[in-house]
Amino acid sequence: MPEVKKPLLEVKSLTTSFRTDRGLVRAVDNVSFTIDHGQILGIVGESGSGKSMTSQSILRLIGSRKSEQVNGEVLFEGQDLLKLQERQMQKIRGKEISLIAQDPMTSLNPVYTVGNQIAEVPMIHEGFSKKNAWSKAIEMIKRVGIPSAEVRAAQYPHEFSGGMRQRGVIAMALAGNPKLLIADEPTTALDVTIQSQILELILDLRNETGAGIMLITHDLGVVAEICDQVAVMYAGKIVEKASVAELFSNPKHPYTQGLLASLPKLGDKTRLTPIPGQPPNLHHLSSGCAFADRCPFVMDKCRSVQPALKKEQTEHQVACHLVNEEGGDENQ
Ligand code: SF4
Repeated sequence: MPEVKKPLLEVKSLTTSFRTDRGLVRAVDNVSFTIDHGQILGIVGESGSGKSMTSQSILRLIGSRKSEQVNGEVLFEGQDLLKLQERQMQKIRGKEISLIAQDPMTSLNPVYTVGNQIAEVPMIHEGFSKKNAWSKAIEMIKRVGIPSAEVRAAQYPHEFSGGMRQRGVIAMALAGNPKLLIADEPTTALDVTIQSQILELILDLRNETGAGIMLITHDLGVVAEICDQVAVMYAGKIVEKASVAELFSNPKHPYTQGLLASLPKLGDKTRLTPIPGQPPNLHHLSSGCAFADRCPFVMDKCRSVQPALKKEQTEHQVACHLVNEEGGDENQ
């Protein structure tokens, strides 16, 4: 029997809760998805939808305090990261799984040169000598398109512009040749030219090393450009999951339809139609669909029964009574 290759990352029923002064909040609620080697999964949603909490839960950057709880399974090449000791997890972070955070200043230490911070990755994870690690840092700085790499390597983060800092963070993330790259809004606040250069770099990583990539964004335009699969999140849950081609040609969840309607179209000068209303307060979620107050198709059932993603639909999953009732019974 040929060996069945395990997916690179398999997230099963991930649930992250916080105990706050105003009660328990479920920031990530029963989220499941898979990323294969060489696949780019886009996770899309408004701020507060649980996208970043999902990545932080995977990397175990939350869950260590008493007020935080992370449940479910995060299988990385079959090994459940949620069950590892912190010491084992430290070996995986930065080498096997790298993170490009939204704000480069959270990843860069202001008191070390950018070159030193990049060189640290091959020194710690691959046993490089100081000299070889420094050469690798310069090579990575060149690779992310920063001119005068030798000079730049010896400079501190505050001497870099915002776009250059973000490229420095990417150089650091790629220096360990990660198997999985988690990029959390990597191009937010950057101008369009730098944005497309950074997306190009992420694509190069996938093409050259076969890494899997989880790209967190609120921007469906970015998803259309580089992702293979997409999961749309709302109020901590995945409400729609499909290939990018399928989601853009046949969006089924009213929230996804709203997101797509609010995308600017080339040459179209008419006003965009943002989704009316605000995302719900996670402290006060009803027992029904979290999108009900904003949904143009809301029905009585939506107010009391939570819609579930249908398990048997593997190619295109939607959590909506309207869609799932047309296609038969719902299953969780
Ligand atoms: Fe709208 Fe109901 Fe579907 Fe929720 S379940 S998205 S309220 S139709």
